Amino acid sequence: MSNKGFIGLGVMGSAMARHISTKYSHLVVFNRTMDKANSWVKVNGGQAVSNAAEVGELCEQVFLCVGNDQDVKELVSGEEGILQTMKKGGVIVDHSTISADMSKELSELCSSKEIGFIDAPVSGGQAGAESGQLTVMAGGEEKYFDMVKDTIECYSKFIKLMGPSGSGQLTKMVNQICIAGLIQSLSEGINFSEEVGLNTNEVIEVISKGAAQSWQMENRWETMLQDHYDHGFAVDHMRKDLDLVIEEANKKDINLDLTKVVNGYYKEIQDMGGNRWDTSSLLKRLKEL
Ligand code: NAP
Repeated sequence: MSNKGFIGLGVMGSAMARHISTKYSHLVVFNRTMDKANSWVKVNGGQAVSNAAEVGELCEQVFLCVGNDQDVKELVSGEEGILQTMKKGGVIVDHSTISADMSKELSELCSSKEIGFIDAPVSGGQAGAESGQLTVMAGGEEKYFDMVKDTIECYSKFIKLMGPSGSGQLTKMVNQICIAGLIQSLSEGINFSEEVGLNTNEVIEVISKGAAQSWQMENRWETMLQDHYDHGFAVDHMRKDLDLVIEEANKKDINLDLTKVVNGYYKEIQDMGGNRWDTSSLLKRLKEL
C-alpha cells in the first residue's frame, strides 16, 4: 500500500484528509499554519511535517486542497516543494480550484520527472466534504488517475476523468458558470415574492416541486430568508473562480454576459464586507440596493 500525504487542512481539506485517514490509517499532513496540522493530528492521528518537500519524501501519493495558482505552484515546484523529493512513479492530486493553464504547466513539469499530476477540483462544499459526498472532476493521464481513484472515493459520491490535464479545471468552470446565474435568479425570485406580499415559505414549498427546483433552492432558501450567510461557499472563493472563468473565456472570445454581471455583483458584496459570506448573499445585495 502506498504512503499518502495531504496538504491544506482548511474547510475542505481537513474533512477530506479525515476520510483518507479513517480508511488508510497513517496520513502525513502539512499546512501553512502549523497549528492547524498539529491539531488535526491530535484528533485524527498520523504525522504532521513542516513543509511540502517532507511530504513528498515520505509519500507516493500527495493530495492538495489549498487556495489559488500560486499556492499550488509553490507547493509543487517551489524550493520546499513536493518535486524536490518525490520519487518517480509518485502522483500529485490537486483538489484546489485553480486555472487550467497552471494545471497544465505543473502537469508537464511533473511528467518530465515521471511523476503524475491530476487536476481534480471538487463540488459539494463543506457539507459534501464532511459527509464524503463530493463530486470530483479530473484531468490527466488515465494510468495515474487509476492509481489514486480508490483514495478519492473515500470522500466522493461521483468521480470522472474528463480528459487530459486541465480538463478537470475547465469542467469546474462550467459548474461555476451554471451556479452564478442561478443564485442571482433565486435571489430575484425570493425578493420578488417578498415584495409582492406572498408567503415565501409556501412559494418555495410549491415551486421546489416543479421545474424551478435546484440544489441552491433546496439547500439555501431557508438561510436566505433568515438573512444568514455566515456559512457555505465564500464570496472570495467565488470571485477567484469567476475571474478564472472569465480569463479563460476571454482567450477564446466566448460569451459570458450573465457570468460577468454576477461577478460584478459579488465585487459589490466584497465592498459591503461580505468576503466570507456564502454565495447566496446575492439576495442581501438586492435587499440593500
Ligand atoms: P480554506 O479554508 O482557506 O483552506 C485552505 C487551506 O490551505 C488553509 O488551511 C491554508 O493554510 C492552506 N494553504 C493555503 N496555501 C498554502 C500553502 N502555500 N502551503 C500550505 N498550506 C496552504 O479553503 P477551502 O474552503 O478549504 O478551499 C480550498 C480550495 O477548494 C480552494 O481552491 C477553493 O476554491 C476550493 N473549493 C472550496 C469549496 C468550499 O465550499 N469551501 C468548495 C469547492 C471548492 P492557512 O491555515 O495558513 O490559511
